[in-house]
Amino acid sequence: MGVIRRTGMFILQVNPILCDGFGHCAELAPELVHLDEWGYPIISKEPVPMADLGSYESARYAERGCPRQALHVAKVNSPAPVSNVALNLPRAARAVSRERLPL
Ligand code: SF4
Repeated sequence: MGVIRRTGMFILQVNPILCDGFGHCAELAPELVHLDEWGYPIISKEPVPMADLGSYESARYAERGCPRQALHVAKVNSPAPVSNVALNLPRAARAVSRERLPL
């Protein structure tokens, strides 16, 4: 039996067009998701190490548990914050996402 070693980083992405804002993801992955005053998820764009198994499993749990399939766990190579362009979100989604950035 070998040990599975997870390398690299991941981020949890939300598609704001699909999201209904009921906030189930904040219950499923509280260490990754916070809610704004309307109940929409605020997720850090800082990549999380795959070795952080608790966060990774929470992210996958939230991805599977999102009733609108608005969440996606994306593997990234860069430890730097990932922009919406790099996330390959549609243009409309990027515009909505920018509106929700904290001041
Ligand atoms: S669980 Fe999905 S649909 Fe619900 S708030 Fe989170 S991302 Fe949006």
